[in-house]
Amino acid sequence: MSESVNPQLRPEMAKLPTYKAGKKAAPVNGLTAYKLSSNEIAHSPLPSVVAAIVDAANEINRYPDPFTTNLIQALSDKFAVPAEQIATGTGSVGVCQQIIQSVAGAGDEVIYAWRSFEAYPIIATIAGAVSVQVPLANNGQHDLAAMLNAITSRTRAIFICTPNNPTGGIVTQQEINEFLAKVPENILVVIDEAYVEFNRDANAIDGIATLKAHSNVGVLRTFSKAYGLAGLRVGYFVGPKNIADAVRKTAVPFGVSNIAQVAAVASLEHEAELFKRVEEVIAERTWFESELTKLGFKLPPSQANFVWIPLGERTEEFALRSEGIAVSIRPFPGEGVRISIGERQALERVIELAGEFVF
Ligand SMILES: *Cc1c(COP(=O)(O)O)cnc(C)c1O
Repeated sequence: MSESVNPQLRPEMAKLPTYKAGKKAAPVNGLTAYKLSSNEIAHSPLPSVVAAIVDAANEINRYPDPFTTNLIQALSDKFAVPAEQIATGTGSVGVCQQIIQSVAGAGDEVIYAWRSFEAYPIIATIAGAVSVQVPLANNGQHDLAAMLNAITSRTRAIFICTPNNPTGGIVTQQEINEFLAKVPENILVVIDEAYVEFNRDANAIDGIATLKAHSNVGVLRTFSKAYGLAGLRVGYFVGPKNIADAVRKTAVPFGVSNIAQVAAVASLEHEAELFKRVEEVIAERTWFESELTKLGFKLPPSQANFVWIPLGERTEEFALRSEGIAVSIRPFPGEGVRISIGERQALERVIELAGEFVF
């Protein structure tokens, strides 16, 4: 028998990193395990949202509305943006992939800060595009001057993640205005606002106002974080009409289920109730940050539902010890840990661990 040969892959596949999803904590002798590694909301879904989902479950023998009409109309009303400028997808990660596939092909460049959201390099690579990673400034903030310098004739898109995952800092409106004034208008600038509902810095970017003022700016938003629908996979893009059109065309047909669509619409209807929970998360974040600061940790201020502790070489040690208290956190070896603001008991355990963590 001749030596077996596997089917040939595109060369990009060899470079493709695997998405590292936040892990579930393993239970430790009698301790309830907690997951603080995926930036989810710890609250269970609103009964009204569950009721809408249960109702829609009776129709799963039918394909969903491929145009997500009701959801897009609700978003159009919310933002006072024409429906034709809005497109939905299977999570904002799905939308992000549709955007990159629409604007960047082989050899084209996509600029984003690093460290930032782990999906960006994967999505750029799948499209055959080249990732241009611009290091964050020391305080974990975007270095917009360096990002401007990274623009070439091959640049097709620039991602700005604010608040940034995993460092939690924001880009200000003034910074983005100055930046956009210098970015050629044929380059798409995408502001990823997955955590915008948790921001309380009045100087931060207002993504929707910004896209209304620029022909090359779009915003990515999600129902996974503040709206608590991570398990249903629904997110959206608001931006230039031609990009929204392209996002619709590149979508997996019927990707956003009817259950996800009705849950998203119901969540928008019950936003006030959901945003009370967001306020609770912010209060917990403030408390958690101050406890860690009292212990001597130096944290960049977070405007998201997680906190970044730049532990450098001691990151893995911290992560290992958090396994011992049945709490999963998200380590970035050599850099730091990202801890989602979840259940109080889990955060208290982390503080206790941090207190024993000798400098
Ligand atoms: C969590 C997250 C998203 C949202 O992902 P979904 O696919 O909508 O669940 C998008 N961008 C960033 C930066 C995130 O951290």
